[in-house]
Amino acid sequence: MNFGITGKTALVCAASKGLGFACAQALATEGVELVITARNAGPLEVAARALRESGAPRVIAVAGDITTPEGRQAALEAATELAYGTPAAFDILVTNAGGPPPGDFRDWDTDIWQAALNANMLSPIELMKATIDGMIHRNWGRIVNITSTAVKAPSPYLGLSNGARSGLTGFVAGFARQVAQHGVTVNNLLPGTFDTDRLRSNLLAGASQAGQDSAEYTQARRQAVPARRFGTPEEFGAACAFLCSRQAAYLTAQNLLIDGGAYPGTL
Ligand code: NAD
Repeated sequence: MNFGITGKTALVCAASKGLGFACAQALATEGVELVITARNAGPLEVAARALRESGAPRVIAVAGDITTPEGRQAALEAATELAYGTPAAFDILVTNAGGPPPGDFRDWDTDIWQAALNANMLSPIELMKATIDGMIHRNWGRIVNITSTAVKAPSPYLGLSNGARSGLTGFVAGFARQVAQHGVTVNNLLPGTFDTDRLRSNLLAGASQAGQDSAEYTQARRQAVPARRFGTPEEFGAACAFLCSRQAAYLTAQNLLIDGGAYPGTL
């Protein structure tokens, strides 16, 4: 299927590896021109090179922390560079950042909560605020927020993620309906367990909290998924590219779980 987005421009945040990188790769395959970000310039350049080598039309790497105003400003300004100096804006926005640490809520003070809210709720909202008017002006836009299965099925030791991402989900539910008339869709992608560095460190933390051997704990988690495996980042990226496609124009304000059937509810 041709997704009809060749030549569109996208900002994909936190994309040097894992799910963000997979989204960038899937969009590049569709001919989308990219700005990708991550905090460390070295791994980000490696990712940009890999994207170019796999046929991406254009990739600009902007190193910076997307949870800071400076990091966001640098990423947003790169749209102009993508357009060879002409003032420009993004057609597609994929928000993402590292997830907050696991732990016991008794140990979290308001600074720790503020950091989680900033990374996983307020930063995506700031990015949407900065890009939405350009999308409305062109009567076309796609926004995909990488959130977590935690907004539907909270994990007890990821309370910061449960809380902050639920705030973003509530905001998007209203915002998406406000901008739908302008050809802009806004959806959240909810990863279950995908085989990335983040998952591996969460599994180690989970094993240590449960007092179990990490290999056994990991195997038990894998077996707990009806698909009996963790997802691949490529599967996640493909879903992101579909949400950004021409064909998905009537799909908005949704929270799409990708979890191999792990969420046990009917709806
Ligand atoms: P990952 O650790 O594999 O990759 C994270 C990427 O984000 C890296 O490129 C890193 O450099 C970048 N990054 C982190 N913080 C950043 C910041 N402040 N500014 C710019 N770049 C930043 O993680 P992942 O598994 O790809 O997870 C992506 C998001 O999805 C995280 O928020 C994670 O909590 C969430 N999530 C992942 C899973 C999973 O199974 N992998 C499940 C649920 C939720």
